[in-house]
Amino acid sequence: MCTTRRFTLAALALSISSFNAAAATPNDTAPLGKLPRWAQPLAYQLDLRVDPQQSAYSGSATIDLELKQAADHLWLHGQDLSVGKVSLADSANHVHAAQYKVAAKKEGVATVEFGQTLPAGRYRMTLEYSAPFNQQLEGVYKVSSQGAPYVITQMEAISARYAFPGFDEPSFKTPFTLSLTVPESQVAVANTRQVAEQKLDKGWRKLSFAATKPLPTYLVAFAVGPWDVVGGPQIPATQWRAHATPLRGIAPHGEGERIKPALAQTPAIITALEDYFGLGYPFDKVDLLGAPDFAAGAMENPGLVTFRDYLMLQDANSPAQNVRSAFNINAHELAHQWFGDTVTMPWWDDLWLNEAFATWMQAKITQQLHPEYRADLGLISGANYAMQSDSLVSVRKIRQPITGNGDIGTAFDSITYEKGAAVLNMFERYLGADTFRQGVRAYIKQHQFASATADDLVSALAKASGKDQRFVKAMQSFLDQAGVPLVGTALSMENGKAVLHLKQQRYLPLGSSGDAQRLWGIPVCVRYSIAGGDARTQCELLDQAQGKMELPGATAGSWYMPNADAAGYYRFDMARDDLARLTSNLAQLPDTEQLAYADAVNAGFGRGDLDAAAVLAAAPRLAQSNTREVATALIPTLRWLAKYEVRSDAQRNRLTDLARTMYLPRLQQLGYQRRAGESQDDALLRAALAQFLALDVKLPEVRQALLLQGDKALEKNADGKLDLAAANPDLLRAVLSVAAQEQGTPAVDVLIKALGSTSEPAQRMAILSGLGAATASASAQRARNLALDPLVKVGEMSTLLRASREDGEGREALWKWFTLNHEQLIKRSGETSGGRLPDLVAGDSCSQSEADRLSAFFQPLLGQLPGADRGLAQTREKTLLCTALREKQDPAAILR
Ligand SMILES: [Zn+2]
Repeated sequence: MCTTRRFTLAALALSISSFNAAAATPNDTAPLGKLPRWAQPLAYQLDLRVDPQQSAYSGSATIDLELKQAADHLWLHGQDLSVGKVSLADSANHVHAAQYKVAAKKEGVATVEFGQTLPAGRYRMTLEYSAPFNQQLEGVYKVSSQGAPYVITQMEAISARYAFPGFDEPSFKTPFTLSLTVPESQVAVANTRQVAEQKLDKGWRKLSFAATKPLPTYLVAFAVGPWDVVGGPQIPATQWRAHATPLRGIAPHGEGERIKPALAQTPAIITALEDYFGLGYPFDKVDLLGAPDFAAGAMENPGLVTFRDYLMLQDANSPAQNVRSAFNINAHELAHQWFGDTVTMPWWDDLWLNEAFATWMQAKITQQLHPEYRADLGLISGANYAMQSDSLVSVRKIRQPITGNGDIGTAFDSITYEKGAAVLNMFERYLGADTFRQGVRAYIKQHQFASATADDLVSALAKASGKDQRFVKAMQSFLDQAGVPLVGTALSMENGKAVLHLKQQRYLPLGSSGDAQRLWGIPVCVRYSIAGGDARTQCELLDQAQGKMELPGATAGSWYMPNADAAGYYRFDMARDDLARLTSNLAQLPDTEQLAYADAVNAGFGRGDLDAAAVLAAAPRLAQSNTREVATALIPTLRWLAKYEVRSDAQRNRLTDLARTMYLPRLQQLGYQRRAGESQDDALLRAALAQFLALDVKLPEVRQALLLQGDKALEKNADGKLDLAAANPDLLRAVLSVAAQEQGTPAVDVLIKALGSTSEPAQRMAILSGLGAATASASAQRARNLALDPLVKVGEMSTLLRASREDGEGREALWKWFTLNHEQLIKRSGETSGGRLPDLVAGDSCSQSEADRLSAFFQPLLGQLPGADRGLAQTREKTLLCTALREKQDPAAILR
């Protein structure tokens, strides 16, 4: 629905004085993208009455605003809101009645009509409204934990419009003053400290919170429920912040104790971030909240950071993976308090300024506080992961233009996060860490509590480093252009000097329809050996199709690594002899470069340059590394071979034997149970190896060992519940998956029953993975149906469905189930998650017919599901690339 206005032609003069009532009304239509600038919010006051026991809430939104020109209406956002009385008070306090009308229902655009032309100037607009608690984890939503209802918010990206009428666009940053009227039994928290409490009649009380610093709508947050509130250690004053800052944990009732580990690590993270930015933590308190159901992993609301429960609620029995993620994600969200919350992108095409920076900074802080977590390797693995997506023709750019609300939803992808972080890492290395930090500090200082774009950042970095347009263009070439550069290298001796010849093109996998001709400004850094066994590094900005680089001291027999420290966001393709020399010196390379080498093998296989035999030859070299990330770096390609390429018993035996030789002794050495005092990394390696050996290559001895734990875990203990703690928590997912596959229906039935009585989030995820993995069981259909059952939370649906598409049989069954149930599935998860739907139900497909049926099914739905067009294009392209790679394989290669 769309209201058009066609009175007088707009004068569009920006110099209209405040009381020039004769000026014309803008002649415009409902804005589906950015709102027009002639009406701007200055401050909000939200007074809401919230009772989690109800199904809706009500209240008022009072917005101080400025009309920059005379108008008889304004545009704003509101979705699924029932707005009643609307009034506008002018600066003389004359109150004008106005009317709220929905203008574009699907996009959540509305208009307020004044019934007359009002002059430019300042107004206070008050809208009384009510709204249902959202069922799809957006806006103000309701979930239950152990039978008790809770209300939580999630506004990013554009869900504040479900929560209150307003200008739901990140460039509009204003203070928000919130009051919550709640039943006396309920605890309420918000972005800022509570400043007043007023007892009301009939068991209600009104809590008022301090005005926030200027915030965009997507960062407004509050929560109401029977929360446990746990005091944490104060964050002591620092040279950047004169006062100690209070820290609290907010957990579902009875879970308060389990949020303490996360609280304990928080002050050190905040202090490390302050030291980097040279700016004190900018908000008045830190609350970390563990939400019983949540759409994403966590959300950086200033002062009230919300996390999915499994990240915040931990104890000695939590999976090592969750403990590790909890630290990383806490560091990520706290980095956002500066990147995103203090300085905000004006529009969603610059979302990377939030997410790439937080991802990159999270690694930096983690490396500083927990060097044993090897966040340096995490950053590289993340980049290698993003390169897979970045090889698609249908991929986004880091700064992808936004053409509709679907593009806002799909912007939260590996390109924005991991590629963005890798590009920052590359240019940090190019400029030097100190210079880079100087630029970042200047950028934050200049734009604090306001907005800034990519250009602002790049120019701050250029200024700090004294670099010219060549640097600016180089950085822009990665931000405004999709794809992974492939740098070809060949070393030759010329007049007694070692010269490395370079050329660049776009990396394209086998079967791609993309154009390889593309130019970036790539900071290429090469490490190479010189006589005497030492190594040197040489860097060059490669911004032409070809280039060369002298390697002083290198000889004809020198080895070189084309991506020193793996800091560059590019892949490489070495001359054959050069690669052979590098391979024989692999053990001398640092872990970072061994990961770059592994990526080169994966990439060469994806491009069709290397066959299965070459991958199987490279795998044992890497597998013997003592570093978990390196030892497991080729597992994705080995998994691909096991999944798509193994067609005969001989092939299966070859792959199984190789996997057994490479990894089983290691797993046996680690054992299947945790050992006292072992490192977290050992626990993670055990889990990765058990998962691969038991579920991907199906090694009988590993499955048997896990099954023993499964039998115990599925036994009922005295109070009739399963004894899930009998299994190693790090292996519980794999244990329940193997048990469900081996035992079939009886195990599936027991697990379904256990879902109703298990509230521990990590155990629930393991149960859902187990249920999803039981694709061959007669009860598999019942398991899939749970995705539509309230027993499974909305945020848990994807864990269940994803686990059920691991093998071909499961994919077929899932697809059939989806085509019959898609309407209910979309209804439950919400249309705005439609962008992820094609991958969720058809990811890992690998045939032309699967690609075709996917397109045929989703094409008619594209108008309904924002973002599904990109989701469909990417899933289809991945399917076709997989098909091409599969068809190219020589069945004999795996046996060589
Ligand atoms: Zn983030």
